[in-house]
Amino acid sequence: MYLRDTGGFTESGGAVALTLPRKPRLIDRATIRRGLEHAQSIDLVVDLGARIGSREWWRGLATCTALCASAIAAAPGFHPLLGPVAAPMGGTQAEEMRVSAIAPTAYGADTGKKVAPTALVERLADTPERPQISLTAALGSGDGFGRTLTRAGVGADEARQVTNLVADATRLGDIKSGTKLDITLGRRPNKDVARPLDHLAFRAKFELALEINRIDGRLQLKEIPIAVDDTPLRVTGRVGSSLLSAARAAGAPAKAIETYLRAMAQHVAIGAIKANDRFDLIIEHRRAATGETETGGLLLGGLEQGRKTLRLLKWTQDGREQWFDAAGTGELHGNMKMPVQGAHQTSSFGMRFHPILGYSRMHQGIDYGAPMGAPIVAATDGTVSFSGWHGGHGNYVQIRHAGNMGTGYAHMSRIIAHIGEHVRAGQLIGYVGSTGLSTGPHLHFEVFKDNKAINPAGVKFAQAAQLGGSELSRFKATLARLLAVHAS
Ligand SMILES: [Zn+2]
Repeated sequence: MYLRDTGGFTESGGAVALTLPRKPRLIDRATIRRGLEHAQSIDLVVDLGARIGSREWWRGLATCTALCASAIAAAPGFHPLLGPVAAPMGGTQAEEMRVSAIAPTAYGADTGKKVAPTALVERLADTPERPQISLTAALGSGDGFGRTLTRAGVGADEARQVTNLVADATRLGDIKSGTKLDITLGRRPNKDVARPLDHLAFRAKFELALEINRIDGRLQLKEIPIAVDDTPLRVTGRVGSSLLSAARAAGAPAKAIETYLRAMAQHVAIGAIKANDRFDLIIEHRRAATGETETGGLLLGGLEQGRKTLRLLKWTQDGREQWFDAAGTGELHGNMKMPVQGAHQTSSFGMRFHPILGYSRMHQGIDYGAPMGAPIVAATDGTVSFSGWHGGHGNYVQIRHAGNMGTGYAHMSRIIAHIGEHVRAGQLIGYVGSTGLSTGPHLHFEVFKDNKAINPAGVKFAQAAQLGGSELSRFKATLARLLAVHAS
């Protein structure tokens, strides 16, 4: 039948499948018996693929159907196989399992075991306070020391007391903003008062730590000096393609390099610094015993160009800080400042016809046309040697400079500088006017060399401070001490 011809299986099988639901046919015992009687004479196994619709075919189909039906009826069916199964968890065990399982909270997981109060738990009327509170407060910029303490919970009276104690040891303004205050507050008698301060510790300065402790009921200050090594930092190296990046790479702070370049520019054209030149920076540096470091400004700058070495040391002379070379010569205060800003020259030095006197005479200075009241400044550093009315000069100021030089400023409307006063380049000495022999507001500016008027146009006040005597020896000692520092 359907097993004998596999080629016809689909066809015969299909026929069986299709035929059964379409033409349900009851097969009674008589039919089966008839079939069995037939089978004795005829082949029971009919090819359902051939002679479709014939008597034999129908008989074969019926046999097949009957056999299929009995096979299905006799089938034991599909049931799950029973094996050993874990017993379901419950109660505490399930709870333990759940809290230790990993599952997203979105899926119903929780983050821990909930402990419900048992009968042993007793409700208190008042919760006891922690005996001590330790906290850290930071001093904000522009914030008061006392205010920081009160904010942290220290009582107003105690904060004032502590502030006074601290002020005895250091200037409160010297405590840097951002300083961390370690505070311990103790037990209080009742909840209506602030907790008493038991302990306070902080770094007041780079070289000083302060501690305040309650000893026998009283606050006592303890100063803890911190050893500081102030050996400067020395950074040296080859300039290479860029002095800035080479010095940065060697560990010099950007600000020190900037100062170095500015100081060097007074002596060397920055473009003349070559790749093989060597830079040498000695920078203020402090290292506390507790490990902190602090880097300050440039103390000494050196530049080695072949066999030539330039060294500049920061030195304060007459209250003015400047860079002196190894020989003790200061910065050049080369060019004079314009005594009036934005003015134009209206008359030059030399013989000219005087507009008021009506004849030719020597014009001993330069005239700058400027509006009435424009400020007049000292052309360079010096000491005022004359201040007041001076005939045809009107209101007049004369300043004596180093190197037997002098300058004069005439026709002022108002004088500011006093005789004997030391003035710096650019310092206000008076205002433009038209006093004395003058046809309109202008500044008549004179320059003297050895008390003789010279043409201001050609003057360059190439002046440099020179250290001498004991100051020079102190300068040289400082230089030697710094140069003894080894490069890090
Ligand atoms: Zn003039």
